[in-house]
Amino acid sequence: MSSVPVAVVTGSNKGIGFAIVRALCKQFPGDVYLTARDPGRGQEAVSKLQEEGLRALFHQLDIDDLQSIRALRDFLKEKYGGLNVLVNNAGIAFKVHDTTPFAVQAEVTLKTNFFGTRNVCTELLPLVKPYGRVVNVSSMVSSSALGGCSRELQQKFCSNTITEDELVELMTKFVEDTKKGVHEKEGWPNTAYGVSKIGVTVLSRIQARMLNEKRKGDHILLNACCPGWVRTDMAGPKATKSPDEGAETPVYLALLPSDADGPHGQFLSNKTVRTW
Ligand code: NAP
Repeated sequence: MSSVPVAVVTGSNKGIGFAIVRALCKQFPGDVYLTARDPGRGQEAVSKLQEEGLRALFHQLDIDDLQSIRALRDFLKEKYGGLNVLVNNAGIAFKVHDTTPFAVQAEVTLKTNFFGTRNVCTELLPLVKPYGRVVNVSSMVSSSALGGCSRELQQKFCSNTITEDELVELMTKFVEDTKKGVHEKEGWPNTAYGVSKIGVTVLSRIQARMLNEKRKGDHILLNACCPGWVRTDMAGPKATKSPDEGAETPVYLALLPSDADGPHGQFLSNKTVRTW
């Protein structure tokens, strides 16, 4: 078994994830895994980094596929006995003018951004070694979407005692409410992406609390962040940040030094803790 530190970035064949891998290859003292659902796109991205003189390793990972997540889990367990850095970056967003029915957009978006990310956490968090760092890439849109929720939902999402099961129930209810056409009446904002990212931010707060309760002595730091508005296929060419600039906050959180005792359980943008 290798004692080399290991970092894994989900959805990293392009965009911000790719830039996070590039930065980690330069700064992380260990093996860096670029992962992608499509091995062809993943290997191509690894080759691109190789041309820049950087060495990333590849492993397949589709966060919508539990078998794929478990295959990565078993690989990490066997080869490294766990992992040191996990960046949950993979995500999707429908374009603003997409005419796909809202209920379908809600189901598809929540499936990857919330349920997929949660499944990765369920399988990989137990493997995170002491002094490990976990970064969940959320969005400022989670904050604005929270503002668009009913007072009752806001209270639930800001609660310091909400459980993961309760959060899953709420995310499931959102999808069901969109299918029944009652989501606005039920207090939800009109953004599937926004609700999915509320899920990611709140999940991060819950997971950090659980780490405090169950693995306090392990000094693991887990946070959610917004990369900013970044020029990728998701956000388009008018966005203000380059992918490398978008990677800065996630990479900062992934590389928090071993003597840092925070941030933990926070939501950050531009390397600054934001109130939730
Ligand atoms: P992007 O260029 O569209 O890249 C998204 C990445 O996620 C791609 O590698 C994509 O793979 C991968 N992915 C999607 N579904 C996946 C799945 N089921 N399993 C594994 N990988 C999957 O988007 P981006 O702008 O870099 O976004 C990265 C993260 O930042 C997302 O979580 C996004 O919500 C967040 N974010 C972005 C912005 C922004 O302005 N760009 C702002 C706030 C937050 P394929 O190539 O196979 O599709």
